[in-house]
Parts: sequence; C-alpha cells; structure tokens
Amino acid sequence: MILPIVAYGDPVLKKVGQDIDPDYPKLDELLDNMFETMYNAYGVGLAAPQIGLPIRLFVIDAAPFADDEDLSEEEQKELTGFKKVFINAKITAEEGDEWAFNEGCLSIPDVREDVFRKSKVTIEYQDENFEKHVDTYDGLVARVIQHEYDHIDGILFTEKLSTLKKRLIKGRLENISKGKVNVEYKMKFPKQKKKR
Ligand SMILES: [Zn+2]
Repeated sequence: MILPIVAYGDPVLKKVGQDIDPDYPKLDELLDNMFETMYNAYGVGLAAPQIGLPIRLFVIDAAPFADDEDLSEEEQKELTGFKKVFINAKITAEEGDEWAFNEGCLSIPDVREDVFRKSKVTIEYQDENFEKHVDTYDGLVARVIQHEYDHIDGILFTEKLSTLKKRLIKGRLENISKGKVNVEYKMKFPKQKKKR
C-alpha cells in the first residue's frame, strides 16, 4: 500500500526516533509499504518519520544511482544490489574529506541543493530479521545512509545549508508545508487549508 509522505513543516520530521523491538506490530507489512511508497515516488531512501512514524527505521534501494556512466563497474554493481533495511541504526564513525552532492528529499519536493558530508560512514544496525551488523560504506551508498540516518535523528538536509541558502529557499519551504507544490505522489501537508 502506498502511504502519504509527510511534507516539510510536519513536527514528526523533527523528532528523534525511538528504537523498536522485534515485536513491533506488523513490521513486515510496514516494510513492504515503505518500499512501495519509495518506489512510487522514485526515491532511493525513505525513513519512517517521512510516513509519520517517529521510529529508528529506514529503507534504501540505491539501484537508480547505478545508471551513472561515470561510475566504475564495481560501484555500479554495489549500487544495483543495495537494497536494505536499517533498524535501530547508530552511526559510530564518519571519516574522510567532505564532498558536495546535490541532495533532494521526498518530504521536500522540487528542492535540490549541494550538501557537504564526510565520505565514509560506519554504522551499527539491525536488519529486518533483527540480526546485528556493523558495516562501513563510502561513496553514494554512504551518502544515502547519512541522509536517511539524519531523518531518524530529526534532521533535514536543508538544515545543513549555508545561512544564505537557507534564506533563499525559505519561501519555497513555507509553500511546501502549505501544499503549494507540484508533486506526482501522495503527500500530507501540515499547513494545508482544508478544502470544503
Ligand atoms: Zn529525505
């Protein structure tokens, strides 16, 4: 089932997510719905707060990034197969030089900006079977993880921009929260006036 994606301005996007247990209700169904919602919106990642749940859960499928011809065959292969569930994640290290990547977010349609982040990330998490993992990633996979991880800590990529950039996009963000944006997928806008 496709779920509405929560738009910029909703307080749930600002909450620090709670850990979940293996007995979390209907987790399999939730994961199916999150992947379906993400694919429907042509996203590469979706975090639970974006569908209104303040829990430490996000899903990633980096396959759409594999089409980039500038990448090595090895990188393309890694991205193609990178479909994962991250539960109760904790980033334990971020290393390497900061690099800029033009990020977007399903909760902030039509806004894309360069964001600087470190190149390498080590993350502890549980998968959909609650098996524990500790993995280190770099490149685009690290980038998607950092973006989604920020969501479960209540942080949006627009908060990482310069003061000037923030000022420049302020009006557009306000419009998004009111539903004044063209978007192809189902969304829930916190400041949309109810239609009679
Ligand atoms: Zn996002």
